[in-house]
Amino acid sequence: MKILVSDDIAQEGIDILNQEYQVDVKTKLSEDELVEIIGSYDALVVRSATKVTAKIMENSNLKVIGRAGVGVDNIDLEAATKKGILVVNAPEGNTTAASEHTIALLMALARNIPEAVRSLKNKVWDRKRFMGIELNGKTLGVVGLGRIGREVAKKAIGLGMNILAYDPYIIKQQVENIDIKVVDLDSVLKEADFITFHVPLTKSTYHMVGEKEFSMMKDGVMLINCARGGIIDEEALYEALKSGKVAGCALDVFEKEPPLESPLLDLPNLIATPHLGASTQEAQVSVAVDVAKDVIRALKG
Ligand code: NAD
Repeated sequence: MKILVSDDIAQEGIDILNQEYQVDVKTKLSEDELVEIIGSYDALVVRSATKVTAKIMENSNLKVIGRAGVGVDNIDLEAATKKGILVVNAPEGNTTAASEHTIALLMALARNIPEAVRSLKNKVWDRKRFMGIELNGKTLGVVGLGRIGREVAKKAIGLGMNILAYDPYIIKQQVENIDIKVVDLDSVLKEADFITFHVPLTKSTYHMVGEKEFSMMKDGVMLINCARGGIIDEEALYEALKSGKVAGCALDVFEKEPPLESPLLDLPNLIATPHLGASTQEAQVSVAVDVAKDVIRALKG
């Protein structure tokens, strides 16, 4: 059995794979390069850079694809199912990292930290421009109450925030010990001071926030998307930020990454990080180890 690791994953995960099978680490391959070599591998392990397309799977003998992380939107699941290839992910390992990053963005937005830092580094001492708002007593809307959404809710409760959440698939027991109100999406949009998104990118969540949804929100609302690009319609977001309807937005993820051509980056009330939600040393070790164990389990049948 041979395993190809085509994105950078933590060495701890590679070591586990190596104990059982031959492992090749070859990163930054193009689709064509992958198509050319994939035939000799039984398993493929990726993070988020490799797009595992139908073309790559077509002539492969892959038995399993492992995704070191939670979102599997970089893998064509339909094609994998057709070919009988098992797809495994590591859903738990980056919950803490992503929820902490979300809270960091929430605070950065509320206190204008990135702009204030930039201003001071330009040798400007401007205390008036960067008057912030407090989180204590404000309402945080949480859209998607899975692992990360629930963790964010718990942390925000610790900061004195009230939580309104929307998730049509949530089971009551999963949230009964958390002091949150589960409501419909419209109520979250209308009543929240801050809204954070923690849904997967699917057909039903693609552009779930656009012009109509922005019009329902409070004037001066602040948004955070640390889930997936594409959930918020970026063109509509640009207009909402420009007009001030949305006072501030923090994005860790974009429809097209890297978003270097995006006009959003030119807006002072948009703060952004380059998809860092899962980028902690602890999370990367955790997801690499989890996915390595699952890939081995799958190869052993
Ligand atoms: P999860 O599967 O535990 O939770 C997702 C939740 O979304 C589920 O409870 C589901 O019921 C809910 N949901 C699905 N469709 C919905 C809809 N239309 N409306 C409302 N709720 C809906 O996943 P998770 O581990 O909490 O991850 C959440 C998101 O964060 C995923 O998109 C994942 O890819 C992303 N993520 C990003 C980073 C990053 O680096 N920025 C890191 C980790 C995870």
